[in-house]
Amino acid sequence: MTERHEPESLSMPNIVAIDGPAASGKSTVGFSLAERLGYVYFDTGAMYRAVTWAAMQREMDLADHDAVGALAEALDIDILPPSDDLCDGRQTTVLVDGMDVTWAIRAPDVDRNVSTVSAIPRVRTALTQHQRRISRRFSQGNVVAEGLVMVGRDIGTVVLPDAPLKVYLDASAEERARRRYEELMRRGKGVGYADVLADMRRRDEIDTHRAVAPLRAAADAHVLMTDGFTPDGIVEQILALMRGEVIGDW
Ligand code: C5P
Repeated sequence: MTERHEPESLSMPNIVAIDGPAASGKSTVGFSLAERLGYVYFDTGAMYRAVTWAAMQREMDLADHDAVGALAEALDIDILPPSDDLCDGRQTTVLVDGMDVTWAIRAPDVDRNVSTVSAIPRVRTALTQHQRRISRRFSQGNVVAEGLVMVGRDIGTVVLPDAPLKVYLDASAEERARRRYEELMRRGKGVGYADVLADMRRRDEIDTHRAVAPLRAAADAHVLMTDGFTPDGIVEQILALMRGEVIGDW
């Protein structure tokens, strides 16, 4: 079990924004960092996946921006810490209109369509507002947790441009595809590595080149390459950054 550390100083950033491409380690690192600090972990990708899943369930035309945008505005998406009796490897529980879709939103068909849905401006506006509302609860200090680790593609650039610490995680496409492939295999999904790599490249291409809130590192983000590092090694680097240390020699 991971040892939990209390924030070491009141001056430690209470909001950490983590961005990066698919399978760069954001969720594993963000979750573990939040656990170490007693912060809340919030995965914004799950919200885009939830809208995509709901649109596909309704057999919507994903090119119909008005319909998918209206759906994003109307859906009741909840991202909660899992209850203690659930030990199926989930980091969070994702509810859409009260229904548990935690695993359904991780299916390969959602993977294939999520970048198309995320590029719709009206979807982004709805979800960005939701994410900012969540972060305001921390700046106003009326929640029990010490802070927030928010993970996504545009947290440091668009959602929380004033976040006190921004991290951009990256790794080679081959390394990221290998991680994703192994994760899918562990969950018993029969996919080939080449398909996973191709899919990931396609998703990165759309995420990086969309007109609204494209994936990129904020100018004031710390860029960490994760190839060859364990998630714990990256968490240690971020903790060092939070303490104000220079980490050039890692
Ligand atoms: O992080 P994850 O791979 O679950 O994200 C799924 C997709 O959601 C990304 O490929 C991207 O298209 C979209 N996304 C986004 N902005 C975020 C988080 C995720 O556009 N802040």
